[in-house]
Amino acid sequence: MVRGFPRTPHESEAHMGLMDGKVVVVVGVANKRSIAWGIAKALADAGARLALNFQNERMAESVQKLAEELPNKPFLAPCDVTVQGDLERFFEALGAEFGRIDGLVHSIATAKREELGGKFRDTSWDGYALSQQVSAWSLIPMGRLAAPLMEGRSGAIVSLTYYGAEKVVDGYNVMGVAKAALEANTRYLAADLGPQDIRVNAISAGPIKTVSAMGVSGFSGILDAVEQKAPLRRNVTQEDVGKCALFLLSELSSAITGQVIYVDSGYSILGI
Ligand code: NAD
Repeated sequence: MVRGFPRTPHESEAHMGLMDGKVVVVVGVANKRSIAWGIAKALADAGARLALNFQNERMAESVQKLAEELPNKPFLAPCDVTVQGDLERFFEALGAEFGRIDGLVHSIATAKREELGGKFRDTSWDGYALSQQVSAWSLIPMGRLAAPLMEGRSGAIVSLTYYGAEKVVDGYNVMGVAKAALEANTRYLAADLGPQDIRVNAISAGPIKTVSAMGVSGFSGILDAVEQKAPLRRNVTQEDVGKCALFLLSELSSAITGQVIYVDSGYSILGI
């Protein structure tokens, strides 16, 4: 170390204060492996006040337990985007608790397990509709319901996508189509909400071992390919994604909207 030269601060210290006074809603924490949990921790370390959802009563306890690890107790409320009226009730509760919000993270997706593998041609309408509803469509009402709470706040919305939206990834099937829709939704929502000073971006994360990801057949092969071929020769972590989300939700990204930002060790730049 050069004498008198400041030591590199610990990562969480480096971001301290970046989100002071901001309220961010993180939708999609299920357990400690969830990408949303990595994002929540990065935001909390940077000073944000958080609100988290839990999908149903079965998941309430594990989310509550995790929430205790955060420096400040987050607001918790149920929200299953397939349950009629749940999104409206969730945002109403957020309005009652905070009056306004600065950021929103959409980190949810689902598909029928049997359709994350096998022949794409066998995709059912039910499976297609479910994956679209949860993984893509839900971003639209979330944007609509968040917008009034973000009025005059320079709001930011971030969703999570994957490379399988643009290239065929073995086994990803119906979810690839949902992610393509999610990325298009990101652009349309960005254009719609931009005049209200609300930015909407997506993070295209490299593969991370989470409960959802383990449902994709051949997932460990996808992890291996990144480790062997990506420019950085390593897989990405929750922390890598958390830092990018922090950037996209903070004023550091003040003129970035409608974009898909890759946090994938560079894998997406490769040809064959
Ligand atoms: P995860 O299983 O931890 O999170 C998925 C979340 O979706 C859970 O919290 C679950 O409760 C929620 N969810 C599912 N159906 C829902 C519904 N009807 N209503 C409300 N919530 C619902 O997995 P994850 O990998 O952290 O996934 C988070 C996001 O990241 C997803 O959009 C996923 O596609 C995306 N992503 C994941 C990877 C990866 O490799 N893990 C890579 C790129 C993008």
